[in-house]
Amino acid sequence: MTLPLALAAQLLLAQSDAGYVRERTEDAAHCLRWPVAAGSTAQVTFVQSSAGDYKLGNGIFDAVSRSEASWAAQASSCSSLRLFEGGHSPSRITGYDPGRSNENLILIRTVDCMRAVPAGDPCITAQTCGNVYDCWSYGAALLALTLLTFDETGALLDTDVEINGAISYLSLVDAPPCTAGNVNPSCVGNDLQNTVTHELGHALGLGHSPDPSSTMFAIAPIGETSKRVLDPASKQFVCDVYPPALASRDCSLPDGGADPGSGGPGGPGGGPGGPSNGPASPGIARTSSSGCTAADGGTAPGLLLAGLGVIALARRRTRSR
Ligand SMILES: [Zn+2]
Repeated sequence: MTLPLALAAQLLLAQSDAGYVRERTEDAAHCLRWPVAAGSTAQVTFVQSSAGDYKLGNGIFDAVSRSEASWAAQASSCSSLRLFEGGHSPSRITGYDPGRSNENLILIRTVDCMRAVPAGDPCITAQTCGNVYDCWSYGAALLALTLLTFDETGALLDTDVEINGAISYLSLVDAPPCTAGNVNPSCVGNDLQNTVTHELGHALGLGHSPDPSSTMFAIAPIGETSKRVLDPASKQFVCDVYPPALASRDCSLPDGGADPGSGGPGGPGGGPGGPSNGPASPGIARTSSSGCTAADGGTAPGLLLAGLGVIALARRRTRSR
């Protein structure tokens, strides 16, 4: 009876020592990761929606590109993963469809579903209103959400980042932080680069960190830009999970172990489009988690700015089988 407890404590300690938290499958048996076979590299391509955000203008594209570039530089420096940004996409559809080619899409929803969707619309029950009405369906407490689709081994198949541009204070400037009662586009509200950098961490397999100084901390106060810069632990995650010349690491395996998840759907090596455009697993994708809420990580009253508040950054997982 003591042994399992001791083992659990050791595992927790190991995770804590690593300084980062990994996303896992529902049964916790596997960690989410892009499949990379030993001896090869894999390419993952993210694309921005060409629609942008009419309120913020074209500066959003550069802000998102800077977020992507931060992770791409880290991946190139120490890992088998190669991250790219593709051309802008006309798609407004998130989620994984086994019947089509899937993009890793980054888009801003500028309309609140509460306003756009008629009462009783079937999309409410089906939880498809976001795609059906091109609207933000997750309420005011969330600033962004990354939808992760993976197979039973934890191999990622598709990731899409949705940004709340409907009920938020998205901004692009570097400084100064907005203050209560004085929010406008010339100060930092919910910084877009800050937001997308966090979400792309989820798209690589990172979970939320309990460290408030981490890029992967679940909460982003008004005026924050610190998540733009990858914290050391999140950078180390990339090196540890995608080691050069070795298979990407499942959490159940020791260093350097062969990874049965690699080479699965999406395939290793990644030609144009890489794993994100790989062949689909037959079957039905289902939602396995509703992600976190504003309560995740704690919404400390002391951090609240009157009328603005902090806002949560989340991920939602969909399993394909
Ligand atoms: Zn998050």
